[in-house]
Amino acid sequence: MELRDYQATMLDEARALMRSGTRRVLLRLATGGGKTVMAASMLGGAADRGLGSQFIVHRRELIEQTSVTFRSAGIEHGLIASGMPEASHRLVQLAGVQTLVNRLERVAAPKLIVMDECHHAVAGTWQRVLETYPGAFLIGLTATPERLDGRGLKDQFDAMVDGPSTAELIARGFLSPFRYFAPGKPDLVGVPERGGDFNRSALGAAMDKPKLVGDVVEHYQRLAPGEQGIVFAASRDHSRHIAEAFAAEGVAAAHIDGSMSDSERARIVEAFRAGDLRVMSNVDLFGEGFDVPGLVYCGLARPTKSLSLFLQQVGRALRIMPGKSQAIICDHAGNAFTHGLPDDPRQWTLEGRAARAGGGGAGDGFSVRQCLDCYQVSRSTVAVCPCGSPFPIQSREPEREDGDLFELKRVAEQAEAAAKAARKDEERACVTLADWEALARKRGYKPGWAKHQWEFRQKFKRRKAA
Ligand SMILES: [Zn+2]
Repeated sequence: MELRDYQATMLDEARALMRSGTRRVLLRLATGGGKTVMAASMLGGAADRGLGSQFIVHRRELIEQTSVTFRSAGIEHGLIASGMPEASHRLVQLAGVQTLVNRLERVAAPKLIVMDECHHAVAGTWQRVLETYPGAFLIGLTATPERLDGRGLKDQFDAMVDGPSTAELIARGFLSPFRYFAPGKPDLVGVPERGGDFNRSALGAAMDKPKLVGDVVEHYQRLAPGEQGIVFAASRDHSRHIAEAFAAEGVAAAHIDGSMSDSERARIVEAFRAGDLRVMSNVDLFGEGFDVPGLVYCGLARPTKSLSLFLQQVGRALRIMPGKSQAIICDHAGNAFTHGLPDDPRQWTLEGRAARAGGGGAGDGFSVRQCLDCYQVSRSTVAVCPCGSPFPIQSREPEREDGDLFELKRVAEQAEAAAKAARKDEERACVTLADWEALARKRGYKPGWAKHQWEFRQKFKRRKAA
């Protein structure tokens, strides 16, 4: 198994930490950076030395997929999952966390435990695993080392090895470049919070409106026509309605969720893989772990306050594949205005969001601006939108953690008003026909516009003089 340079470096660092007695090490690596390959390398390495290991996933749907990956990497393994045959003699065991916790006492103690998507690690569960296997080393894998509510993982891990940034992985060709559009900002006034994010059912009701659903399809048709992709919805009904709206416009689409039978889900994913489906709509099935075959388009229709959830979702679109030049992300949830762009620099620590925000302001240092002509979102340091329109002013300040969407709307409205005022100023500065023609060129208007504007004002001047 060939490891990339940064993967090898991260594993070396983890081994050095473990040799010095650190038992619980978190490896942070962006979605698509190859965490499963690193895991396979560690598990295979332990097996080569005759040591037992476990790979823990938090969702049952992930067991089969991970098992296929391990088999293709030549890693013989047993399964610890309800309803699946045990093969307890194997050195590598692939386990669903729920079943493992129920069987802890009778499963052979491993030397190495690797936990996938370890931001789900609940302190109590970790504690039980650790107490039951006092001699084991624990490795956690995640792209976003913080829980949904922003709390860090310092109770679960002793040290973190941080991998390359998303921007670096894109620059090196390991992740896909992307264009990010935010065509609409939903009105979420009155949607209550629960557990650090929006209340699910209230959010579903706020987003599941024909106009918002129609917007998703309309912008797909305009910005990513014909591309394969997925949409993240706010509720299962919302997701179904989105799939129906795509189908009504002649785009082959299907809703998919975790409550479906394995065979039903497999049938839909297979149809997508075969190209018979263009769009799959889901709530959180594809958010993490569950593999989606190559996709270009990613629609965000679920507003979230969780940076972790946001990055997991957009991360699905950043995987590379042959023939893909860039991903197209359509954010109908206003998430970029809360979290910044997918490749913004972010400081991760085991302390979580509190520590990141503590340095002042948004903590991540992001701030984005949006083109009023094409809705594309760019970093605030960019002066001209890729579509050619200059940014009139900085469209918004980074949002405070406690900021609400009222504030967002207010800032957006101010930006629009300021843009209009700036255009008026440009027009007021025009005196001669040549001035008007220069402005027409700058704005990409036809010369007739300049002539018309100039003549109109000449008439006005004459009338005033008379
Ligand atoms: Zn633009």
